[in-house]
Amino acid sequence: MNKLNIVVVGGGTAGWMSALALLKLKKNTLATLTVIESQRIGSVGVGEATIPTIKAFHQALGIDEQAFIRATNATYKLGIQFENWGPSPYIHPFGEYGKSIAGIDFHQVLKHHVNNSPSQNIDDYSLPIALCKLNKFSPNTTYQEHSFAYAYHLDAKKYAVFLQQQCQALGAVHISDTVSDISHHANGHIQSVTLSNGKSITGDLFIDCTGFKSLLLRPQKEVTFENWQHWLPSDTAIPFATPTQNTADIRPYTRSIAHDYGWRWEIPLASRTGNGYIFSSQYLSEEQARKNILHEFPKLKPEDLRPSITFKTGRYSHNWKNNVVAIGLSAGFLEPLESTSIYLIQAAIMNLVELLPEVISTTQPEPLVQELEFNLRMNREWETVRDFLILHYKCANLSSSPFWEYCKHMDIPATLAKKIALYKSSGSILENIDEIFLQPSWLAVFNGQNVESTQGNIRISALPKNKVSDMINHLYHSIQVSAQQTPDYAATLLQTHNNLK
Ligand SMILES: Cc1cc2nc3c(=O)[nH]c(=O)nc-3n(C[C@H](O)[C@H](O)[C@H](O)COP(=O)(O)OP(=O)(O)OC[C@H]3O[C@@H](n4cnc5c(N)ncnc54)[C@H](O)[C@@H]3O)c2cc1C
Repeated sequence: MNKLNIVVVGGGTAGWMSALALLKLKKNTLATLTVIESQRIGSVGVGEATIPTIKAFHQALGIDEQAFIRATNATYKLGIQFENWGPSPYIHPFGEYGKSIAGIDFHQVLKHHVNNSPSQNIDDYSLPIALCKLNKFSPNTTYQEHSFAYAYHLDAKKYAVFLQQQCQALGAVHISDTVSDISHHANGHIQSVTLSNGKSITGDLFIDCTGFKSLLLRPQKEVTFENWQHWLPSDTAIPFATPTQNTADIRPYTRSIAHDYGWRWEIPLASRTGNGYIFSSQYLSEEQARKNILHEFPKLKPEDLRPSITFKTGRYSHNWKNNVVAIGLSAGFLEPLESTSIYLIQAAIMNLVELLPEVISTTQPEPLVQELEFNLRMNREWETVRDFLILHYKCANLSSSPFWEYCKHMDIPATLAKKIALYKSSGSILENIDEIFLQPSWLAVFNGQNVESTQGNIRISALPKNKVSDMINHLYHSIQVSAQQTPDYAATLLQTHNNLK
C-alpha cells in the first residue's frame, strides 16, 4: 500500500485540527505529516464559540473532555441568545422544542392548542432554554425524558497549542518558518513549497490552512471566489476582551446583540469574556465603531481594542483543487453569527478523511472522483450555513438604519426564499438530510424574529383535544422541574476549573 506525504501549511485552529485528525484517523495511510507555521504571520486568534458537533469530533479523535476544557479555559454552551434581532431576546437552543405528537411537529400542535396550554411560548418547552434562563447545567446530569446537546466556548490560541502538543506526540514534523514560494508540476499540482530559509518541502497532498491568505488554493487555475457580501453585508470585526468578574456571571450561552450597523458577540470563557463588534464599513467608519464600543464599555481604553479584522464573505469555487485541499479561512468565510467556522473545518476534515485516496498522481489530467465529491459536499455545507445566516439579517426586526433597511429589502437566495415561503404558508420547515441546522434551529429564528406561519397541519384538529392537552401539560411541567433540579452552572464551572473565583 502506498503511503502519502502530507504537508499542512498553517498552524491556526484549522491547521492543527487537520493535522491531529489525519494523524489519528489515517495513520496507516501516512508516510509523513508536516505542519509549517509562520510565527511572523501568526494566526487570526479569534474563533471561540462552537456548536455541538465539536464534541463528536473530539470523541472521534479520542480527546479527553476534561483535559480539553482545562487546557483551553473552556465553558459549556447550550445555545446562542439573540438580542435586538427580534421583538425580545430569544435563544437558539441546541435541542428540540417539545415532542412531535402523532407525527405532527410540536410547534404546530402548540399553536392549535394555545388556549389549553400552560404556556403559549414555545421556549417554555425547551429544556436547554429553561437551563439557560435559570443558569443551570452539568454535563453529568441525565434526563429521562429530554435530550439536548452542548458545545463549548474555548480560548482559540490555547486550543491550537493543545492540539499541537498532541500532534507532536504522535510524530508530526513541525516547521516554524514562512512559505515564500510554491513550485508546481505541469498539471498544476504543487510539487513543493519553499521556506524563507531556502529549504524546499515536497509532498503528495498539501492542506492549505493559511487563513485568509489562501496561499496555496487561491492561485490554482480555475479557482474563483464566490462573493456573498450582497447577502451578508458585514465586513469588519473589532475584537476585544473584558474580564470575568465572578463565576456566577458566566452564562451557558453565547450572546449576539444586534446594533445599528451589524451586531456584536460575547463569548464567556472561564478566564475572560471574548467580545467582537461586527459591522459593515459601507455604513459605519472604523473610527465611529471604536467610539461606539468605548461608549458601551466605558471601562475600556482605546488600546484595549484589537486591530480590526476585515473579511469578505463567500467561498472559493473549489475547496479541493489538484493536490491542494483548503480547510478553514483559506476555503471561504461566513461570519460567526451561528459559530459555524470551526464546524466547517470539522466537516472538511471528516470529508477528507473519508475520501482521501491512496495515490495522488501528479500526471493525472482529470480531477479525482474524490475531489469532485469533496467539492460537492463542501459546497452544500457552505450554502446551507449561508442561507441560515442570511435569514437572521433578512428577517431582523430592526429598521433603525440604512444598513437594516438594506437587509430588509435585499434579494435572497432562491433556496432560502423557498424555505421562508413554505414556513409562512404551512408552518412546515423544509429540511435536507445533510443540513447542519435542522428544524429546531430554523424554528428558533422564525419564532424569535416574528416570522409567522398562517396555517397549521390539517391533521391537528383530528387529534383528541384532552389527550393533547395532557401531553403538553406534562411536557411543560417536566421541563420546568428538570431544569430546577439541575445543578447551578457556576458550581459546575467551579468544579471543572478549580482556579476560578
Ligand atoms: C472576527 C472573527 C470571529 C470568529 N469567530 C468564530 C467563532 O466564534 N466560532 C467559529 O467557529 N469560528 C469563528 N471564526 C473563524 C475562526 O477564527 C477560524 O475558522 C479559525 O480560527 C481557523 O482559522 P485558520 O486556522 O483557518 O486561520 P488562521 O488562524 O489565520 O491561521 C493561519 C495559519 O497560517 C499560517 N500562515 C499564513 N501564511 C503562511 C505562510 N506564508 N507560511 C507559513 N504559514 C503561514 C499562519 O501563521 C497561521 O498559523 C471567526 C473569525 C473571525 C474573522
